[in-house]
Amino acid sequence: MTSSPLAPYAAHDSRTRGRRYPEPPPAFRSEFQRDRDRIIHSTAFRRLVYKTQVFVNHEGDLYRTRLTHSIEVAQIARTIARALALNETLVEAICLAHDLGHTPFGHAGQDALNECMRAYGGFEHNLQSLRVVDELEERYGSFPGLNLTFETREGILKHCSLNNARQLGELGERFIKRQQPSLEAQVANIADEIAYNNHDVDDGLRAGLIEISELLELPVFAREHHTVVTLHPQLSGRRLIHEIVRRMINHVVVDLIETTAQRIRDVNPADIEAVRALSEPLVSFSDTVAAEHQQLKRFLRERVYLHYRVLRMTNKARQVIRSLFDTFFSRPELLPPEHHAAARRMEAESGEAGRARAVADYIAGMTDRYAIEEYERLFDPAKRS
Ligand code: MG
Repeated sequence: MTSSPLAPYAAHDSRTRGRRYPEPPPAFRSEFQRDRDRIIHSTAFRRLVYKTQVFVNHEGDLYRTRLTHSIEVAQIARTIARALALNETLVEAICLAHDLGHTPFGHAGQDALNECMRAYGGFEHNLQSLRVVDELEERYGSFPGLNLTFETREGILKHCSLNNARQLGELGERFIKRQQPSLEAQVANIADEIAYNNHDVDDGLRAGLIEISELLELPVFAREHHTVVTLHPQLSGRRLIHEIVRRMINHVVVDLIETTAQRIRDVNPADIEAVRALSEPLVSFSDTVAAEHQQLKRFLRERVYLHYRVLRMTNKARQVIRSLFDTFFSRPELLPPEHHAAARRMEAESGEAGRARAVADYIAGMTDRYAIEEYERLFDPAKRS
């Protein structure tokens, strides 16, 4: 339960659009608490600890994994939700689930699997996160997946192609009508960007891919750097970096809360349906901070994500995913038995596209290290199969 009263435009438990398979209400928890708890107990959630954002898992123990990333996103989003009198528990559920469908090896893995699946409907990680909670988790006797509420599922499906939206019924409607999700979903979405924009600065410095002197080109970094060295002239190393990064996060979070609160006052939506009917999201930065945020994003792309050492890593990742996909697609009998059975069942339903989807489900579920081990078991003659 949230501690302060919810705003009228928040997602109220009592007014949820419900679950795909009706269930009696929980006794001591709210509907969204139950969603969050189911997510935490899922297998896909535990795997996030061995999936990476930018750095492949075996590169070092100190970099963000998808698990710590998801927890950081939830922390940032909960602060924002509480300040805006939104449903903090729903926001937390969405954040913890938002990356459940991510492939091993971060964005490189997602791009590689999307290429492999091009002829069979493609691969989108947001849609896969939804597939994990709707279909792939095996935990309950009465239904497949986790049977989450509409509101949590709406938040998980951040992006979606029009083609896929048309097949998703009620959940896909907003992409076709160009409408918005709940404010809780909007908060989770921006908190994701705030988290990675800032923790990738920290990880990029730690990995030696960027230097403080380069970051000083960015006003958003230079400003906080100036404040910190004025307050603590002797500070250096990790403490200097962490003092700067925490202030960068605080700056954008405060701006987001103030700007959004003003926009909500201007539009004054009566309820969650009024929020959904808008053509623009209400949760947003001021123009100045939005521009700085984009500038930092560009910087990270050029100096970190496209750094030659990261590119070498992502190139290997692409090769692993491509080889696994091609091998399992052409020889499904090499799959572990339960995945082979899924491939046969899905092929009977929808032909080659079904077989491809079963292979993609198997690969997307892998952790970084499991994908590497599976690659070795298939292609390294010295390795046990
Ligand atoms: Mg994320």
